[in-house]
Amino acid sequence: MSGQWEDMIQKLVRSGILRSPNVIEALRRVPREPFLPENVKSSAATDCPLPIGSGQTASAPHMVSIMDEALELEVGHKVLEVGGGSGWHASTIAEIIAPSDEPKERWGHVYTIERIAKLAAFAKQNITDAGYGDRVTVIHQDGTVGYPEEAPYDRILVAAAGPSVPKPLIDQLKEGGVLLVPVGGVQYYQTLVRVRKKGETIVEENLGGVAFVPLLGKHGFQP
Ligand code: SAM
Repeated sequence: MSGQWEDMIQKLVRSGILRSPNVIEALRRVPREPFLPENVKSSAATDCPLPIGSGQTASAPHMVSIMDEALELEVGHKVLEVGGGSGWHASTIAEIIAPSDEPKERWGHVYTIERIAKLAAFAKQNITDAGYGDRVTVIHQDGTVGYPEEAPYDRILVAAAGPSVPKPLIDQLKEGGVLLVPVGGVQYYQTLVRVRKKGETIVEENLGGVAFVPLLGKHGFQP
């Protein structure tokens, strides 16, 4: 791991964004650089989104940290990510719910959905090269309909902003589960919403302003 990446982690710890030992350790074990295209690898340790092709980005380290903390992830969880991109975020989650030094019987699994075929292939290659191919499954389809084949999920996160919380994702969330989704306009005025499912009750919490690429699909913005 480069010194620059450790500096980034320390900065996120000092700012209070990174707090939990399991999340900090996952960010240490899964640096962003191997998941990026050659032309932006040298910027891996800058705290901003970086282009990964097809007009999409790998999320900024602070945003991945905020989401990994807000998800309250535990070893053994089954997680669904919508917006696989580079595969980096999914791999950080895999390291939390299926840590490399835990027996495989305790491991959870991450299912990550990406709608752009080229990026789904890019994510799959990156995830395999980084050693997470046995803990992360990449699916190429519209993620706004979720992935009912493996539902229900302990945790669901959406890495793109939609006009509202996609109903199929609420349906596919376990009782007691947590769903994170940026909601708002295309590019602007978005907030990160945390949804908790408690019986018949759905509790929504506003975690603050964010800026994500649009969620395109049946239950998102129309492509
Ligand atoms: N998590 C990614 C990473 O670690 O690199 C970054 C995700 S990027 C900010 C958002 C991604 O969401 C893009 O790759 C985009 O193609 C994808 N996306 C947008 N709408 C989608 C949908 N309906 N289903 C699946 N993926 C979608």
